[in-house]
Amino acid sequence: MQLLDSLGRTINYLRLSVTDRCNMRCFYCMPEAGVVKRGHEAILSYEELLLIAETAIGLGIEKVRITGGEPLVRAGIAGFLSRLAGISGLRHLALTTNGLLLAEMAADLHDAGVQRLNVSLDSLNPRTFAEITRGGDLKRVLEGLDAAERAGFPPPKLNVVIMRGINDNEILNLAELTRERGNPVRFIEYMPVVREDGWQRYCISGEEILKRLAKHHTLEQVDKGAFAGPSRDFRIPGARGTIGIITAVSGHFCSDCNRIRVTSTGQAKGCLFSDEKTDLIPYLRPPDPEGLARVLNEIVAAKPERHDITKDGYGHENFTMAQVGG
Ligand code: SAM
Ligand code: SF4
Repeated sequence: MQLLDSLGRTINYLRLSVTDRCNMRCFYCMPEAGVVKRGHEAILSYEELLLIAETAIGLGIEKVRITGGEPLVRAGIAGFLSRLAGISGLRHLALTTNGLLLAEMAADLHDAGVQRLNVSLDSLNPRTFAEITRGGDLKRVLEGLDAAERAGFPPPKLNVVIMRGINDNEILNLAELTRERGNPVRFIEYMPVVREDGWQRYCISGEEILKRLAKHHTLEQVDKGAFAGPSRDFRIPGARGTIGIITAVSGHFCSDCNRIRVTSTGQAKGCLFSDEKTDLIPYLRPPDPEGLARVLNEIVAAKPERHDITKDGYGHENFTMAQVGG
């Protein structure tokens, strides 16, 4: 079955956030004090998350990415993933993590049926890494990457948010990981989720990142495989890993957008930057699979054509990525 939106885009990708809590505090994602703690009942139970996934897969979703907050801090995550992996019709199960708990959990994630890991890694300098993440330990993340490969995962994709004056001096070193370690590295434009004054000072466009790389390397363009993300992909000749550029802000991958999102509190969104959200709780408590299928279809049908975050005067409600799941 194919799930199409009103513009004819195939929607086959669900990003499901399982928690808004995190064991890091990346300054571009979360306030230093963390997110406002919610009562247990505000967060969807694993049963509820499974019902959403199963219903969405029944409608045509083929790929599910588990995200957060930090998904590995939620108790019982491996058991949940294993049940999710067992849903018939799911072709690809991926998880995005900050990697802090990966060293101890990689084998369980692999056994559960997760096929691919994305790990966020914004710096190879322990001090810069700790500054960006407000205390994160780079060494543990690197140990986590090794553990993931030992457990049988392909080299995790590394998500790098490039910010001017913070880590843009590391673009070449980070790209080098595609040769040294063989990980795909994806450079992501900084997104103004909390629109505090002066947010533009951090922004570096994907084009500029690409130009800086091209000064030092001949980049080969790479064709995208099935379930490829919204990046434009390149390769330094001979490198095992690819370099992806995600122009979430400046360029528009909206025309190829294939995703919907559900937050850990059960809010479904057709676009990260739209204020439109639909509360799924009425279809989960008590469970109403038919109502849920209907409302998911409506969300897909109403998916906006594109975001307009770079337009002057455009505003969206402030939110943290940790609430929506990136
Ligand atoms: N905790 C996990 C992690 O960090 O990978 C998963 C959740 S995190 C919200 C998902 C992704 O969103 C991360 O790769 C993170 O770098 C990205 N992200 C968060 N805030 C961002 C921002 N303001 N601009 C661009 N990317 C952002
Ligand atoms: Fe936590 Fe990920 Fe947000 Fe960093 S980006 S604060 S690791 S949820």
